[in-house]
Amino acid sequence: MIQEKIRKVWERIEKAANRVCRKKDEITLVAVTKGVPTEKIAEAVRYGIQEIGESKVQESQDKFQTLHASFPRLKWHMIGNLQRNKVNRAVEIFDCIQSVNSERLVEAINRRAEQIEKVQSCLVEVKVSEEPSKLGFTPDALEKMLDFSSRLKNVRIEGLMALAPYFQEPEKTRPYFEKAKKLFDRFFSRRSQPVLSMGISSDFEIAIEEGSNMVRIGTAIFGERVLNAPLLRKVER
Ligand SMILES: *Cc1c(COP(=O)(O)O)cnc(C)c1O
Repeated sequence: MIQEKIRKVWERIEKAANRVCRKKDEITLVAVTKGVPTEKIAEAVRYGIQEIGESKVQESQDKFQTLHASFPRLKWHMIGNLQRNKVNRAVEIFDCIQSVNSERLVEAINRRAEQIEKVQSCLVEVKVSEEPSKLGFTPDALEKMLDFSSRLKNVRIEGLMALAPYFQEPEKTRPYFEKAKKLFDRFFSRRSQPVLSMGISSDFEIAIEEGSNMVRIGTAIFGERVLNAPLLRKVER
């Protein structure tokens, strides 16, 4: 079941990439495992998933204790809003913190990373829509943030993360992804292997067409989430 869903997702990734003359190998698939039990995650990993995304530190910590021994090379991404009192644990667990949405947060991440002698990979979350529920830096605030972060020795900003609003019609997400891609090109085009994380189950094909090189997919792999994992976007337009 999961195996078939993963295969289908890769097939859709490949088709979307090919439409814009890109290759599926350029795209990283992060399986979003919030609300998914560890046995199911292990199954997905056995079927080829190499990177997972979680949105809560406590939940990740419990899963990490179970999964890390069996799958030491599995990459962990923090994709949910990170509270500052959870930063210490987050820096210990996550290979990449994608949801950097304030200077105080990146400072706290840097401090902890220094303590444990790690250079923490991060993405900066950009706010490309007007929705009040969305976090992240506005395009205007981004430059100052990147400047600020570049002075922190134990944090490496690898790229950007963005979320489009939810639409019944995925095509409508395109302008938001386009906006994120423009910012990405402006600030990251001279870096080696920069990351543009955008696209979820409902819109990842559009995101790839607009230049995403990392998609975060939950529902299309694991099915609808039942409890304990609110989707960020409930408002239907
Ligand atoms: C839950 C979540 C996803 C995955 O959403 P699906 O619709 O299940 O694919 C991706 N990104 C973020 C930030 C999320 O919170």
